[in-house]
Amino acid sequence: MILHVDMDAFFASIEQAINPRLKDKPLIIGSRGNKMHTVVCAASYAAKALGIHSGMSSREAFTICSNLEFVAADQSKYIWTSEQIFELLKSFNLPLNYASIDEFQMDLIGHQDPVSLGKEVKEKIYANFNITASVGIAKNWLLAKMASKINKPNGLTLINDSNFEQVLRQTSLDKLCGMGGKTGQIFMAQGMKSCWDLYLNLPRFFDENPGKFEENSGKSSERPKSVSHSYTLPKFQINPQIIQAWIRLLSEMVAARLRQQNLVSATVHLWLNGPEIGNFGAQKTHRGSTSDGYEIYQRALKIMAKSSLKNPKIRAIGVTCSSLSEGIYNPLLSEEIRREGLIKALDRINNRFGEGSIYPAITVLTR
Ligand SMILES: [Mg+2]
Repeated sequence: MILHVDMDAFFASIEQAINPRLKDKPLIIGSRGNKMHTVVCAASYAAKALGIHSGMSSREAFTICSNLEFVAADQSKYIWTSEQIFELLKSFNLPLNYASIDEFQMDLIGHQDPVSLGKEVKEKIYANFNITASVGIAKNWLLAKMASKINKPNGLTLINDSNFEQVLRQTSLDKLCGMGGKTGQIFMAQGMKSCWDLYLNLPRFFDENPGKFEENSGKSSERPKSVSHSYTLPKFQINPQIIQAWIRLLSEMVAARLRQQNLVSATVHLWLNGPEIGNFGAQKTHRGSTSDGYEIYQRALKIMAKSSLKNPKIRAIGVTCSSLSEGIYNPLLSEEIRREGLIKALDRINNRFGEGSIYPAITVLTR
């Protein structure tokens, strides 16, 4: 049996747990800090009840409810909490899997009393973090994930042989993983409404083990310690725009290598060499890890701004990313999701036509 944990309105619940004033109120989390010019990336249950949902513009959400509470997203907080929950779940000593930032899966390998275990999981999460989770238990991850959605929030649902038909009959098709979008619409256009309709047409879809349970909690030991690129300019350079363009290019090159290896980095190190400054090097570690060249560039610029360097002559530049971890998180915020789409497209072009076929406009200054 597989046990699927799905946190309830995760980002909003974390904010409410931290700030009790927000408890039970309609609350939205904005991708950005500007409350009228952003996108809802999470909504509390009280906000959901009003029809507010993620992906909606904040302006629209405020039209629905003018006294909506607003908090700007703080990703590092959510990632940290997710990691802490993962650590907590490790204490059950069962094979464990990160499904997403707010979803975890456990293989119950013949556990005698899955329902008691599910209750214990929920209680432990609530006791430690003051937020609720919904748990689904079934013979494979697809059904377990579906089960976790049936009695949200704070639900616990077991699907076994005796209630299989009943549960599938009562569950609309869009509750099933992968059926929320186009695929679901195609099946619904053929007259299938419930998961049971799909089962009657395509029993194999619910097979014993669609998509093997792959544990991904084990951290790879072959991960490099750092990724870096450096460049020596043909002559001393004093034009800050050109120096910045080089930092951007090197940041993009480092980022592309991180993405190739499915890594993200928390620490950026900037190295500069010049006749007045000699070898200057400084680094900063951030709470959020990234593999986005623009973000790495921004972090490198901050290091430069904090140094006392006033327009120095530069001869060589190096950008290094360290504190590497596996890039297991998908981007959380809509602005980032859009940027990631762009980055993937750029990577595809650069892979196909050779590195450097497309780079951000600013790097033209380096040519
Ligand atoms: Mg969730």
